Amino acid sequence: MIIRCSIHRSTFPSLLLLFVVLGGLLLGEASAFRVVIDPGHGGHDSGAQNGSVLEKHLALDVSRRLARYLNRRGIKTTYTRETGFVSLNGRVAIANRYKDAIFVSIHFNSASNRGATGIETFYYTPQSELLAHLVQTNVIHKTRRVNRGVKHRGFRVIRGPRGPSILVEGGFLSNSRECRRCIDKVHRQKLAEAIGHAIVRFRKVR
Ligand SMILES: [Zn+2]
Repeated sequence: MIIRCSIHRSTFPSLLLLFVVLGGLLLGEASAFRVVIDPGHGGHDSGAQNGSVLEKHLALDVSRRLARYLNRRGIKTTYTRETGFVSLNGRVAIANRYKDAIFVSIHFNSASNRGATGIETFYYTPQSELLAHLVQTNVIHKTRRVNRGVKHRGFRVIRGPRGPSILVEGGFLSNSRECRRCIDKVHRQKLAEAIGHAIVRFRKVR
């Protein structure tokens, strides 16, 4: 029995080409997804400080833990800085090198009120709000710290990037108890994993 192919011979090569092009575009889009991780401060700018504890070191450590978490799940990452200093505009420019990137800035807090504690997440653009909520909820769930909530602020590093952008303040170094917790690598690992897990979820639901 002869089975007739419903696709005319002359149209088959063009259809094949269309599938190859569409497939390539889809794969290209998937592999282009990237998380730009921004460790706050750096170089001459130490950020918040409590004795010998410097925000720039803790932010870089959490950033590296976050990158490891994401890389293990096949998500590409880029740092805006490692040991040196990069300006805020420089950080935004790095984020905007990529077409489909999420930008996550990692900081630790400080306040003149030594009693202030807790974790908060900032966003600016509407497309970043869901990511901010997922990260904040997950971080509080995993670390059991005081929930200072999700806040809308126009910080340069979360205003400039084209993609979803957030800034996480992982605890107050100005509070001695919280500072002790922040220098504990177990807390920093929980923080990094909670942020990473929320990013993976955001990527699935957005
Ligand atoms: Zn900071």
